[in-house]
Amino acid sequence: MIRTAALKVGKLAYWLLDFALPARCAGCGTIVNDVHSFCPDCWKRIEFLGSAGCVTCGTPLQATDAENCAVCLAKPPRIERTRAAVVYDDLTRSLALRLKYGRKVAIARTMARYMAPLLGTQPENALLVPVPLHRGRLWQRGFNQSAIVARELSRHTGIRSDASLLKRIRRTPPLKGMSLQQRRRVVAGAFKVDDGSAVDGRTVILVDDVLTTGSTANACARELRRAGAARVELISWARVVRPSQFMR
Ligand SMILES: [Zn+2]
Ligand SMILES: [Zn+2]
Repeated sequence: MIRTAALKVGKLAYWLLDFALPARCAGCGTIVNDVHSFCPDCWKRIEFLGSAGCVTCGTPLQATDAENCAVCLAKPPRIERTRAAVVYDDLTRSLALRLKYGRKVAIARTMARYMAPLLGTQPENALLVPVPLHRGRLWQRGFNQSAIVARELSRHTGIRSDASLLKRIRRTPPLKGMSLQQRRRVVAGAFKVDDGSAVDGRTVILVDDVLTTGSTANACARELRRAGAARVELISWARVVRPSQFMR
């Protein structure tokens, strides 16, 4: 009873704070007119990816008339559609870090605001599934940043989000600095769907904060397809883009 009351007061206080404080730029903290947005300076610096690029993997394309990149044409990827809101750089990385280490729901709302339009029209049975953390890491950190983003995306789009369906059954070391082959090996078999009926015949949209090579998401997709998912997509906040991939 007391606990419920405290929770309610907490919620109210949060709402009042949200309401009373001026809106701040999610990039630099400058006061802005609009909540969950960026100031004009940050806006100019951020490279928004939108729906351009390869229709399948989202890689920026040099030739504007091609729909698919050469890689996707040669071998259609397991993830049938990949989209990211922005290019990964110092500014967009800072949002991902503040979310990861500070559980800043406001940051997740900002991200979701720019990610949601990229989801397009989805079938009624679609599910948002965050890339899971291992139990040990979840206990350490207390939350999964991608699950917070998935929840905010769900609020935006009405697509159901399920953070417990896909599990990371093996703790994997950070992939930074590893080759593509090493990454694939490390994450292979690290994910598990316990209840196949929860994904059977559905479109699953994986949600991640940062997309680097896609090895982790690919391992997730493999397990989701094995469990019966009809289609797997991926939506991420930021994407690492090599300079040579830019259309200039
Ligand atoms: Zn700013
Ligand atoms: Zn492609």
